[in-house]
Amino acid sequence: MTEPLLSVRDLHVSFGTSEGVVQAVRGVSFDISQGETLAIVGESGSGKSVTASAIMRLNFGADVRVSGSASLDGQDILSMSEEGVRQLRGKDIAMIFQDPLTALNPFYTVGNQIAEAYAIHHPGTSKKDLRELALDSITKVGIPEPLKRLNQYPHEFSGGMRQRIVIAMALINSPKLLIADEPTTALDVTVQAQILELISAMQEAHGSAVILITHDLGVVAEVTKRVLVMYAGRLVETASVEDAFNSPTHPYTRGLLNSVRSLDSDRHSRLEPIPGNPPSLIDLPSGCPFHLRCQYAASLNDRCRSEVPELKAVGNSWSACHLTVEELSSDLRAAT
Ligand code: SF4
Repeated sequence: MTEPLLSVRDLHVSFGTSEGVVQAVRGVSFDISQGETLAIVGESGSGKSVTASAIMRLNFGADVRVSGSASLDGQDILSMSEEGVRQLRGKDIAMIFQDPLTALNPFYTVGNQIAEAYAIHHPGTSKKDLRELALDSITKVGIPEPLKRLNQYPHEFSGGMRQRIVIAMALINSPKLLIADEPTTALDVTVQAQILELISAMQEAHGSAVILITHDLGVVAEVTKRVLVMYAGRLVETASVEDAFNSPTHPYTRGLLNSVRSLDSDRHSRLEPIPGNPPSLIDLPSGCPFHLRCQYAASLNDRCRSEVPELKAVGNSWSACHLTVEELSSDLRAAT
């Protein structure tokens, strides 16, 4: 068996606020192999983006506590020197953010910014070569009139075009791992499809692994094969996309699926939102963090309220739920 490209083990991230300590990520472990596309899904505040930031070692302020490990090609990013991380970031791991405007500097032309993303890891590259590389990458991401557009500033581009520029910057060094955090949320459906196509074409060309962070299950079904479901900072289900969509093993995954409309569902049928809100990460409930919203909690007496369920194998999937396979299948079938 080949070694995973990235191996995350027992990742914990917490940070202090005036209201108390936010336990944003609590014991997350997963692997991703070269060329693989993995989705991380969950509601806002489930810990998806904080997990990604921790892997990139972004936003590590004085009041942020991180433990565990995140090894890329056997090198633990979390215990690396600042200089080591700077060498890695943008070259071996790149990130596409939800809002491209925050990733672009309004005072520099896009050509300069794309060239800079390469030059920082390849000092000594001539200006002429940098310009050609920038032109090549802006062409590859499908920006029309690339020669003219290189000299323009971010505000002269639409949201979709700005996202293409951010992708060009992220991919110019052919990263081993690309983390795309809600890369299409701010875009309309047609641009979204183009951006996703672009990411998979680039991934194929470079053999990169991709972690796609999203709350959009349609996007997950379209572009990934494996999915991690997060709730209140923990992994609650990991499965192939097929298993997660066809036979979810965790009530929360099931709730997420029931709250979106699929193409083959009756358009007059009502969506079933998950009742309530995610818990406060400062004051987590006892036991299973989902128990206040879970329709199956009552059937398990006090166990859901007192005991934190660990991830365990359920069929082909892993699920953090006290339900047995039998209870799970009968309960879930009964609720369908
Ligand atoms: Fe629901 Fe209990 Fe399973 Fe948590 S452990 S998801 S509360 S049934």
